[in-house]
Amino acid sequence: MTTYPVYGRIDGPVVIIGFGSIGRGTLPLIERHFDFDAKKLVVIDPDAGSHTFLSQRKIRHEQVALTPENYREVLGGLFAEGQGFCVNLSVDTSSLDIMKFCREIGVLYIDTVVEPWAGFYFETQNNAERTNYALRQKVRDEKAANPGGTTAVSCCGANPGMVSWFVKEALLTLARDTGRDVAAPDSREGWAELMQELGVKGVHIAERDTQARRQPRPRNVFVNTWSVEGFIAEGFQPAELGWGTHETWFPENGYSHDSGCQAGIWLDRPGAITRVHTWCPTPGPQFGFLVTHNEAISISDYYTVGDPAAPDFRPTCHYAYHPSDDAVLSLHEMFGSGRQQQKHHILTEDEIVEGIDELGVLLYGHEKNALWFGSRLSNDEAKELAPYQNATGLQVTSAVLAGMVWALENPQAGIVESDEMDHARCLEVQRPYLGPVEAHYTDWTPLQDRWEHFPEDIDETDPWQFRNVLAS
Ligand code: NAD
Repeated sequence: MTTYPVYGRIDGPVVIIGFGSIGRGTLPLIERHFDFDAKKLVVIDPDAGSHTFLSQRKIRHEQVALTPENYREVLGGLFAEGQGFCVNLSVDTSSLDIMKFCREIGVLYIDTVVEPWAGFYFETQNNAERTNYALRQKVRDEKAANPGGTTAVSCCGANPGMVSWFVKEALLTLARDTGRDVAAPDSREGWAELMQELGVKGVHIAERDTQARRQPRPRNVFVNTWSVEGFIAEGFQPAELGWGTHETWFPENGYSHDSGCQAGIWLDRPGAITRVHTWCPTPGPQFGFLVTHNEAISISDYYTVGDPAAPDFRPTCHYAYHPSDDAVLSLHEMFGSGRQQQKHHILTEDEIVEGIDELGVLLYGHEKNALWFGSRLSNDEAKELAPYQNATGLQVTSAVLAGMVWALENPQAGIVESDEMDHARCLEVQRPYLGPVEAHYTDWTPLQDRWEHFPEDIDETDPWQFRNVLAS
């Protein structure tokens, strides 16, 4: 029988909010790796579908949707002892409100995204307000207003989350491979200066998901390997990226922000139909979608050198996501028809017959051109490592596990993002669940995949300008 390390004791209730693909996959990792009172484990989810699964395991299910009106009462009742861990893995609940309440009552908190209350994504008229920049800035403002106190880990999934730890590993790898004798920096400024010194111009969160089932995608069903609701919501947000100091061009439909950290810009176009040229080990060059993500802003912010309003150095950073082929077809159908499919389906580990989720960071523009560093976890391996999830799920849930371990070991760290955590400790916990974690150098640049019959308006003097990365 396999024995698993127990990383610590959680006193008080463990409350999981949301029991979709990520909640379900996180449960067995919590059971494996923490010592806690099983009678105090509670799942909050309005979906009746979870009930049989949970009642068979004698896990308490509060079948309720958290709302701005009831969340204090529901959570306050469950955490009456003023201790425990709140693991927020739901859609449609405000990460900020729940995080603030947990800190107020001394309960540890973690989530994987800065999620707003239901309605925000589609009912907010102003696109600038619908950006992840705006959502994240509110969390950063709360951190600044109330520093320290009970730990609340913001955005600690695979991405946002794990990829921030990969950026640090990739920087150390690049430093080593370019003959520098570098120890891991011990401050944000140190990491930012290391990235600057290495000549990194930017980072793609470069992902290729090749997981597939045998059955072709039926028409009018949105198929994905994780939350369909979550993906549609972020896909309809404006495309967004951290904006680096090496950029000499500015997109015509681009906007910067008047307040906040100043690290990002947004484009007046949905991310899920905005394509970028990128690179992953399996396909080599490929198109990815410029879907907005918290880490695009947080990484550019974290690695800023100098005054944020006029920095000496800042990397460009964005997601470049090629989801599973079924998800690409689902997006094509949805944007083409102008309406969301009524049926949603998340591919389960048992119906997937092939494929991997290849998720890493592509550090580009330095003396070795570009370095991809990431996890190449297959669904087959994921099934052997942990139950109830596909490869995509396990990359996320194992990051939640790592974030929970870090929070238990650092219970008074205040509000933190993954960039601000001890990446080595987090990866130590997570790595057994990531399959092959590899570094690949490539001589690819975005100038290469061009069709000579259709000349484009690009900048050949610097291959790594965003102007060249953005597909026309
Ligand atoms: P899912 O759609 O499978 O499940 C979401 C669950 O939330 C559902 O069971 C739903 O019933 C529940 N829910 C909806 N409204 C609720 C409410 N008001 N109160 C409580 N529960 C509610 O989604 P998933 O794939 O499990 O993803 C969960 C979250 O994790 C999403 O926000 C998603 O964006 C995020 N996520 C992050 C990463 C990452 O790498 N950072 C990756 C995947 C998913």
